Amino acid sequence: MTSSGLRVRDLTVVYRTDDGDVHAVDRASFDVGPGERLGIVGESGSGKTTTALALIQMLRPPGRVTGGTATIGDVDLLRLAPAEMRRHRLQTASYVPQGAMNSLNPVLTIGRQFRNALADHGVRLPEDELRARVHAALESVELDPRVAGLYPHELSGGMKQRVCIAIGMLLGPRLIIADEPTSALDVVTQRQVMETLGRQQQVTGAALILIGHDMGLMAQFVDRLAVMYAGRIVEIGTIREVLETPRHPYSRALVASVPRLAQRGELHGIAGVTPSLRRLPEGCAFHPRCVDAIDRCRRERPALDRAPGEHRAACLLAADAARESVA
Ligand code: SF4
Repeated sequence: MTSSGLRVRDLTVVYRTDDGDVHAVDRASFDVGPGERLGIVGESGSGKTTTALALIQMLRPPGRVTGGTATIGDVDLLRLAPAEMRRHRLQTASYVPQGAMNSLNPVLTIGRQFRNALADHGVRLPEDELRARVHAALESVELDPRVAGLYPHELSGGMKQRVCIAIGMLLGPRLIIADEPTSALDVVTQRQVMETLGRQQQVTGAALILIGHDMGLMAQFVDRLAVMYAGRIVEIGTIREVLETPRHPYSRALVASVPRLAQRGELHGIAGVTPSLRRLPEGCAFHPRCVDAIDRCRRERPALDRAPGEHRAACLLAADAARESVA
């Protein structure tokens, strides 16, 4: 991987509570190369959004990063002072949050919001160049430049979301993190917004992380997929590997839960509920819900096997099977 991709190692986020420390993200490691798309899926509380927020220092107290690195080139995003991080946001790493469209300021025109984003990052240009820059940004997400003169309430949800993507891409960040960017939109608009995001990423060559839970969307959009459960990455590989030959029983259950026409009438959920991070089960955190669990699973906590970059899983049985296959 070249130096401009993202390399995350052992990212750990702890929430300090009255009952003690809770590991919301436990030693997450992954790479996202330039132009590559990594999806992160998991149920709510799995740590996927916390991972995203940690990478751009937007965690709210009592959450804090207690370990790990997240480097892009020679910049460790986790070590930047707050003022430096503000400078690097949009320039190095951009975040498009869930419902980003609601983050637009309702009393400022769209054009003014682009200009403010540029001014916040010290971009000072003559008026005609500034106008051209804003218009080009709008056109890059297939919006008419006249949108610059409108207020957010005059735009549809999909248009507002495209404005947010354009602002996120304004300074050519090397990493873009999109956290369920289409969750509030209808399916047709969802598709348009994802196409816009994908095109923008291809043009800039940024690394992209898509956070979500929609496996169908992941299948269409990402190159690699990380599955999180109870604060840990339990499987990571290419999208084809994870969807076609999932190694972790939780990933298998997620894949099986995607509705298929051939199985009309059958709904496959995952039995049980996500465990509380304050009281994780001993051994493998998934064992109370795992259809394959054996005695050892109640005592031993599996770590991701294999080397970064390979198809990895954190499951005792998957590791045994892998060992047997090479023996
Ligand atoms: Fe299931 Fe055991 Fe693998 Fe955990 S380690 S996923 S409980 S088989």
